Amino acid sequence: MLIQHAPEYVRGLGRYVPGKPIADLARELGLDPGQIIKLASNENPLGMSPVARAAMRDAMDDLARYPDGGAHDFRRAVAQHHDLPVGCVVPGNGSNEILELIARAFLAPGASALFSEHAFAVYSLVSQAAGAECIEVPSRNFGHDLAAMADAIRMDTRVVFIANPNNPSGSFLPGVMIEQFLARVPANVLVVLDEAYNQYVPEALRYDSVSWLKKFPNLLLTRTFSKIYGMAGLRVGYGLCAQPVSELLDRVRQPFNLNSLAQAAACGALSDASFVARSAELNQSGLRFLSDRLAALGLQVLPSCANFLCFRVGDGRAINQLLLRSGVIVRPLASYGMPEWLRVTIGTPDENERFVVALESALRGRNV
Ligand code: PMP
Repeated sequence: MLIQHAPEYVRGLGRYVPGKPIADLARELGLDPGQIIKLASNENPLGMSPVARAAMRDAMDDLARYPDGGAHDFRRAVAQHHDLPVGCVVPGNGSNEILELIARAFLAPGASALFSEHAFAVYSLVSQAAGAECIEVPSRNFGHDLAAMADAIRMDTRVVFIANPNNPSGSFLPGVMIEQFLARVPANVLVVLDEAYNQYVPEALRYDSVSWLKKFPNLLLTRTFSKIYGMAGLRVGYGLCAQPVSELLDRVRQPFNLNSLAQAAACGALSDASFVARSAELNQSGLRFLSDRLAALGLQVLPSCANFLCFRVGDGRAINQLLLRSGVIVRPLASYGMPEWLRVTIGTPDENERFVVALESALRGRNV
């Protein structure tokens, strides 16, 4: 009875399926956690920057106090990093929270949100939780079809979500295409460009999305410390947008959304460019290695500009089970409408090698 009074759109919500934690698999199969490798959540196999770690340790002495609710140092460091005014930075408990704040501020029953098929699952979850209608535009080669998305915008559309690179497909849209799209979108529709994997994009393909903020006051960029910065467990992300948008999001943000350790670590991480460069390099070589090895196994592999790869195995569920029994956790993609596919995060060279050996066995119907 109690539950029946919750809005129908909340009761009908699906669950976000996260990568399986190492501890869960160890418990379920009686495996040694030290022998399990997790390549399921696009985390950085190098961990976090030592500079960030030291900054976090220093902040540990003051945990009896509330964090800085305005996240002043954090916002200043991010603003400086991007050469933007501090007022353009929205702090988030992971970039996931920025997506939630957007939905809370802009979406409601009677409004619609638009995103691509096979796009990051949280777009539909936050939109539906706000009571908005979700418009899912068919993908093009598992990536965004921007022309179709522009055509699909309706009078009641308030938010468009784009992930570039996209998770789970790894697909990438060149900057010029996004700029053209932005020029087509009505000024009263917020365009969220989710750049969680931005620093993994090869140099030659990079574009300066931050500079577009001046031209398009309806653009919001999201970034995260969970991926290349290796701080997924700390939950830090941010939005970059025009000041009126950031002030609006600030009103629906809980006062202390970014904890003290996260704020300190993020400031440290921003100052360690060499860690980011090292992580991107390791990723590039791992991506090449795994693409080649998966192709050599005769598998279809989607081109990726991020720190993961999607490959087609036929029965994703069965192969995933065999990999789990070998102590290798990857991400099955049935919840993304891709039941024949698996997604693997690029790991260390040892982890990549172990994954390939386990996959070869799994494809022969065995676990190692
Ligand atoms: N956007 C994309 C495209 C993602 O893949 C993820 C994490 N899987 C996020 C946003 C959210 O990450 P976080 O909340 O850790 O910043």
